[in-house]
Amino acid sequence: MFSQEMYGLGSKRSVIREIFEYGNKRKAEIGAENVFDFSLGNPSVPAPDCVNETLCEMLRTENSVALHGYTSAQGDFNVRKTIAEYINKQYGVHLTAENLYMTVGAAASLSICCRALSLPEDEFITFAPFFTEYRVFVEAAGSKLVVVPANHETFQIDFDSFRSLINEHTKAVIINSPNNPSGVVYSEETIVTLCDILREAEKKYGHVIYLISDEPYREIVYDDIKVPYLMNYYDDTFVCYSYSKSLSLPGERIGYIAVSDKMEDWKSVYAAVCGAGRALGYVCAPSMFQRLAARCVDKTSDINIYKKNRDLLYGGLVQYGYHCVKPEGAFYLFVEAMESDAYAFCEKAKKYELLLVPGDDFGCPGFVRISYCVSTEQIERALPAFEKLAKEYQK
Ligand code: PLP
Repeated sequence: MFSQEMYGLGSKRSVIREIFEYGNKRKAEIGAENVFDFSLGNPSVPAPDCVNETLCEMLRTENSVALHGYTSAQGDFNVRKTIAEYINKQYGVHLTAENLYMTVGAAASLSICCRALSLPEDEFITFAPFFTEYRVFVEAAGSKLVVVPANHETFQIDFDSFRSLINEHTKAVIINSPNNPSGVVYSEETIVTLCDILREAEKKYGHVIYLISDEPYREIVYDDIKVPYLMNYYDDTFVCYSYSKSLSLPGERIGYIAVSDKMEDWKSVYAAVCGAGRALGYVCAPSMFQRLAARCVDKTSDINIYKKNRDLLYGGLVQYGYHCVKPEGAFYLFVEAMESDAYAFCEKAKKYELLLVPGDDFGCPGFVRISYCVSTEQIERALPAFEKLAKEYQK
């Protein structure tokens, strides 16, 4: 016999993957240029030049045994030091290499944090709409995911619901801003209120409540929007970062966990992070990409291309009568479906070769996610299809 829980996870494809596979089949049938696939969050903008240049240089000049060898489990010391110094300079905090743990991307950062913190009966709170894998990571760590319903008007936090869901079992709160799938960036006011509520709850229940900030889209923001750095607002913070989106390297699997030095007994918590990484079998993050991350630490892909896509798509959709909060970051639009069943809406969209993702798994039935990390040309060609889809409902 084997684990039915793991069988369930492995045998059922995510909705996004189902749509992606359908898209591949359809592209083979009618030609890729005729299918408007908005399903995946795979960056469409190439990595900045420094990525390939640094990789070539490292391969040419560095000792191959060291370059491809194991690093220490928490990551190469100099890499962690460089990244810590960069974070300090950007956000005015005081981290050292000892606060950083290199990971294979934000997915690993999150699952390690959940495993490091989780005790029986613990609850982790997150806010709808949320990245669907949170449920997998929290439940795999033996805890329960509690979801605060969405504020459909703004997709900022509904604080009354949040307050009502905190209890003595609350171990941590997971937030994600800029958000997948809404594209919303939590305002400073939202962050301040969130942190005040958490401090009150810590006092009331007499134990630490951790804040896990999932930040793969930190740099992907538009119109000079600022993304508050959570460690400056709340002591018991973990930042789960990834280079998947900022450097367009999702397949290379590189990111980190930063443990705040203001967290009570942070050295022990950091040791628990190292222990969780060990228990989950993450021997170390890829050696060459750790070094690459340190050397391209202040670079990003060309974010302007995503902004151009956002403006084009948002402008078109609003004109055709779709309702949507204007995204300030990430590369997703979260649009109200034109009928209550988002699955049925996505099925109708397929008639026009539009591949969209129903919001149900993100904790938001009645909405659909459109990933605009695609070529601008695809958006231009897809706009008439979006218009025809809207007209079908407006008849
Ligand atoms: N968190 C969010 C909100 C995401 O959208 C993603 C990926 O799309 C991840 C985490 C996982 O990112 P990574 O590729 O770094 O594991």
